[in-house]
Amino acid sequence: MLLKSKIALVTGASKGIGRGIALALAKQGCSVVISDIDDAALKNVEAEITLLGVKVLAVKCDVSQKDQVDNMINKTKEFFGGLDILVNNAGIYPFKSFTEITENDWDRVLSVNLKSVFLCSQKSLEIMSNGGSIINISSIASLVGFNSLTHYCASKGAVNSMIRALALEVADRKIRVNAVAPGSIETPGANNPDENIKKQTISMIPLARMGQAEDIAGAVVFLASDLSSYITGQVIVVDGGWTLR
Ligand code: NAP
Repeated sequence: MLLKSKIALVTGASKGIGRGIALALAKQGCSVVISDIDDAALKNVEAEITLLGVKVLAVKCDVSQKDQVDNMINKTKEFFGGLDILVNNAGIYPFKSFTEITENDWDRVLSVNLKSVFLCSQKSLEIMSNGGSIINISSIASLVGFNSLTHYCASKGAVNSMIRALALEVADRKIRVNAVAPGSIETPGANNPDENIKKQTISMIPLARMGQAEDIAGAVVFLASDLSSYITGQVIVVDGGWTLR
């Protein structure tokens, strides 16, 4: 067990990559705070984690709203007394061509994907133990361009830049700040029922398969644990080799 007696918080944990991360952390002995806007689905994940025999706290939270983020961290402090690992996972990726993106679309994507990282990280640092770990779920869209995702690409590129600056600021507390940049991962949010599009996507991936939430969770467990104790300010790409070509 790599994370016994540690306390982690995962945002967007109701489904997809966030759920996979929360379960993987729990399997390593970690107590987990799970949060999401989808309260009903969150309850199912709470039940799954309880079955693993670790403590779990579920808190409804829209990560783009400061009052809700503050409430989530205050509840974490009340229930667990502190925090060792923060995983900023919640994110949205609504496809829209650049000329059709409204100011509201832009603000929403930047709020959920970027402002949330500021809000959750800043408030968490008030209760995080020295030696803690902050892990942000970025995207390969921070490194290469994708049609109809300019707002999303901008938000994830900014996350990569932000972690480098934050890693410097918190290094004196031995807190590490890193990111994982997933490629194409099968999740409810990314699901496309068109088999041809899936085949086309797989043809872009040297390892010739779509990624699973567990593939991302493995990298997060590594960054959360002492196995990565000398790694900070880095973006680890987990994409089956997509960005190699
Ligand atoms: P997903 O299947 O849509 O799951 C995301 C979860 O976050 C959902 O439960 C969603 O609720 C919730 N959520 C949305 N907005 C929120 C908010 N404001 N506050 C709190 N929770 C919120 O997404 P995913 O594919 O697992 O993606 C997770 C992360 O990985 C995102 O940051 C995404 O950008 C990144 N990523 C994904 C892929 C991929 O291929 N899947 C690739 C690269 C990066 P609702 O369902 O109710 O909206």
